[in-house]
Amino acid sequence: MKVKNLITWGGIPLGALGVGLAIKSFLPQRFETASWVGEKGNVTRLDSETLPAVEVSFLRCGSISIPELIAVRGAFSLVPRVISHSAVLIRHPKALFLYDTGLCSDIDRYLVDQSLFFRKTLANFHLEQSLGSHLRERGVGRGELDFALLSHLHWDHVSGIPDIPGVPLRVNRVEYEAAKHGLLNAGNGLVRRLMSGNAVECFDCAGPTYEGFRSSLDLFGDGTVVLVPLPGHTAGNTGMFINRSNGSRLFLLGDAVWVAENFKRPATMHPFIWSRVTGDDATARQTLIDLHRYALHHPEIPLIGMHDAASQEQFMKSEIYIEAAKI
Ligand SMILES: [Zn+2]
Repeated sequence: MKVKNLITWGGIPLGALGVGLAIKSFLPQRFETASWVGEKGNVTRLDSETLPAVEVSFLRCGSISIPELIAVRGAFSLVPRVISHSAVLIRHPKALFLYDTGLCSDIDRYLVDQSLFFRKTLANFHLEQSLGSHLRERGVGRGELDFALLSHLHWDHVSGIPDIPGVPLRVNRVEYEAAKHGLLNAGNGLVRRLMSGNAVECFDCAGPTYEGFRSSLDLFGDGTVVLVPLPGHTAGNTGMFINRSNGSRLFLLGDAVWVAENFKRPATMHPFIWSRVTGDDATARQTLIDLHRYALHHPEIPLIGMHDAASQEQFMKSEIYIEAAKI
């Protein structure tokens, strides 16, 4: 056979293989879920009446809309899903603090030296309201924030820090140690520059298992704010339970998921995104399984990812309803 013919006939199966792989990437990925129902794990008994009031506010700083089939593998839907960049302001009797930091007013200046591909994909968003502006609007003055606790050290979770100079950063030690060998210096040191020289205070989730999760840290020792490791997205991605007397329990997930369907189905994001943002595929999928199982047994508790605009909006509406009911 002539070389030209060989290339032509050889190219057809290769092309078909490529199309096949592209189609497969949109198909659901099998998670074996049958054995999960019925295993409840050890459940913490909470008497919410005895807990203090804890105010929780999502501060949405930016967003981008993506088709659902990108946010949820196997969704077969082009319905736009809003991916937000948010911080959470938490007012506990012992501290006023943030969980993640959203975006600073100057974020474009930090991203200008990043690759075009990065800026047009993962760093493509519309800045809506900076962290600093949110805090001013809520009357939170300079020096009033006690600390910012970071779910993990991806750039989009530390991007509000330039708006809170001097505020100590609390980071899971596992995350910080891993980041020293990669994340802190990637992209011309983007994360290190965004952390702006604010002091870093490492914590360890070295306490007992909590709600079936492997270990925990009771941040104030009163059962209100309990941290649990949700690894895989990064080595030390850290979730936060909030238990309180003035509203529903809440479970913040960092980036263990993007939207609720990721743990409800369960399903990863489309592999193109998932492979770029996930540090350890097998561990991250195990965390999805853990969250799926937890959600099955606790439909009353909102599980909210830090990019899940719909769940954040729904939670804030319920908070306004609770506040209005008190008046
Ligand atoms: Zn993120």
